[in-house]
Amino acid sequence: LLFSILALVVPKIQAQKKLTSTDIDQKVKALVSQMTLEEKVGQMTQISIEFLLKTENGRVVEPHQIDMDKLATCIKKYKVGSLLNVGGNAQTRENWHALIEAVQKMALQERLKIPVLYGIDAIRGNNYTLETVLFPQEIAQAASFNPEVSRKASQISAYETRASFIPWTFSPVLDLGRQPMWPRIWETFGEDPYLGTQMGLATINGFQGNELVEDKYHVAACLKHYMGYSMPLSGHDRTPAWIPEREMREYFLPQFAAAVKAGAKTVMVNSSEINGVPVHASHHILTDILKGELGFKGFAVSDWQDIQYLYLRHHVAKDDKDAIAIAINAGIDMSMVPTDYTFTEDLLQDVKEGKVSMARINDAVSRILKVKYEVDLFNNPIGNANDYPDVNSAAHNKVNYDAAAECITLLKNTNNFLPISRGKKLLVSGPTANTMRSLNGGWSRNWQGNNSDETEKDKNTILEAIQNVFGKDKVDYSEGVTFDKAINIDETVDKATRADVIVLCLGENSYTETPGNIGDLTISAPQIALATALAKTGKPIVLVLAEGRPRIISAIEPGTTAVLHTYLLGNEGGNVVADALIGKINPSGRLPYTYPRSTNSLINYYRKYTENKEASEVAGYDPQWEFGFGLSYTTFKYSNLKLSSNKLPEKGNIMVTVDVTNTGKVAGKESVLMYVSDLVASITPEFKRLRAFEKIELQPGQTKTVTFTINKEKLSFINYDLKRVTEPGEFKLAIADLSTNFQY
Ligand code: BGC
Repeated sequence: LLFSILALVVPKIQAQKKLTSTDIDQKVKALVSQMTLEEKVGQMTQISIEFLLKTENGRVVEPHQIDMDKLATCIKKYKVGSLLNVGGNAQTRENWHALIEAVQKMALQERLKIPVLYGIDAIRGNNYTLETVLFPQEIAQAASFNPEVSRKASQISAYETRASFIPWTFSPVLDLGRQPMWPRIWETFGEDPYLGTQMGLATINGFQGNELVEDKYHVAACLKHYMGYSMPLSGHDRTPAWIPEREMREYFLPQFAAAVKAGAKTVMVNSSEINGVPVHASHHILTDILKGELGFKGFAVSDWQDIQYLYLRHHVAKDDKDAIAIAINAGIDMSMVPTDYTFTEDLLQDVKEGKVSMARINDAVSRILKVKYEVDLFNNPIGNANDYPDVNSAAHNKVNYDAAAECITLLKNTNNFLPISRGKKLLVSGPTANTMRSLNGGWSRNWQGNNSDETEKDKNTILEAIQNVFGKDKVDYSEGVTFDKAINIDETVDKATRADVIVLCLGENSYTETPGNIGDLTISAPQIALATALAKTGKPIVLVLAEGRPRIISAIEPGTTAVLHTYLLGNEGGNVVADALIGKINPSGRLPYTYPRSTNSLINYYRKYTENKEASEVAGYDPQWEFGFGLSYTTFKYSNLKLSSNKLPEKGNIMVTVDVTNTGKVAGKESVLMYVSDLVASITPEFKRLRAFEKIELQPGQTKTVTFTINKEKLSFINYDLKRVTEPGEFKLAIADLSTNFQY
């Protein structure tokens, strides 16, 4: 009897009460008061785990093992408080457990027993661990125009990341994707701040959950790259941007502001410069705006080696010590060092010389420790392997498939050519047809390390999935070209003459950051050559674009019958393409960016009136496809648009309703978009701005009423004096079926 009573009582005692923010503040205060300066500076240091791994002949040993001497230097000598992993090969979950256990056990032997905060680029999936789900990349998620897609994807990513005992992900990217040349545009939610905000909020909710203190299935999110990183003038990564304060507040800040308000725990800083000031040195952006105006209470981590780069690259500091003082005083709390201890040593000197105050150090350390409490590290520093039975489960993979199915975007479908009926003979061709790299993009297992598809061999490429769906005997394959050279164009053309349909898979190989820099947005020349040669056969071409940014295809688009855009759909991408081709999936994605027609006309849809085609004497806004464009295998009719009033009351809303009917023969999903234009304003207004959207599903013949609200906020903008205002006047509102030739 006693035993069973104990068994009943013990779990109750163990089930700890969740900490409140006041509890955490008190614990942090008590801890900081006991810390030496060395311990505090250690907490502000983040080291790459690669620096601590066992090596042989200069190469990291596989599977990864910690070199205990190096770890002792890190934890015992320098008292480092955070580690990160980048690069290298993905590891098994068991191996991650061993690595984290070794690290935390040593940290917990230290005087104050402060666990290490481990952070990782688990971008849309726990991509540094083998056998986890890799979801569509952010740009593809944005095309779903369905925040639930992002919430579910990040919730599962959080679970699968925590299953490797890692409580912090460097995601989401909230940079505004308006520069298609930029090699990281696929990491963003696209060019629209409203869409980006909604998808970003859903992502943070999925990662962090709703509680102050996370449970064992959630991770701390990291908003990046605060702020203005995505608009390099040159289009090349980590090069200068010029963003006037008004435009910064209008377009680049809102996503971050909303995410901070929603409780995002950490922020990573833009590596580059805005208006001549590297953001790592900007007190205005980091302290005045982020921590002051936005009230951010978490901590700001530098990007990779970026404090050192203040003198090595940017030339705004004369040496390491100078750079550290500038960055810490600007408001950086933690330095992603990542492979030496100069930061730790030099920051100590800076404090001793009075260049950085103890108050600033205490503030930074308090912010870091607060997050450690919020991810429940003190209570659960390692984790329990048995808590995560669902990693890579069928259910998780199904969520991935459903997500990718909502992202794939149909851009052209002449005479309803698609879907293709079973029995047709297909020729699959092109460099993106038979590789997982073009479906996954960067920050993926098959991009890190050895750049091979070995880790994803149980997943289907586009070719494999098409063979499964249409039957191997009906599908011929000829690559034709690689991304940069012709291989067998003549043979491909020959095979095409014997096929009913050509599925031409073009686009890009995976990349991120600098290796993705390009001099020309046009799709590569060999791919144009292949498409041109195939078009001459007169056979219908279904162009599948698997790419991380909108590569210009205006030379080859006229020769195609249909176009499907996959962006980077992730590990279910191949299956989703094949199922869309046969009609099992009805595409419902919409472009999250403007698809440009020519390299010298990169105008976003938020254009000013003077940039309109009719207004411009030269090119004007005349993209290949507009932001928000996307077709379906069914048709939708919009009717009965009603406003509760045509005058906005001083306080309150206008309700807008519209009926949407599926007038076609198959079920379909439709994202209903509401645009608003300010007709006259004191700052030249944009031609139109997205102000609400909702995705609905309709059976053939079914009608649903969609309701939106308009309030003062939705009509507001940042004025010349940098104030958010709503100026009285007339506004135009539009909700329409964007697949027709709707004239706005
Ligand atoms: C990237 C960040 C990333 C960090 C850590 C940097 O190069 O800019 O986005 O989180 O590396 O891997």
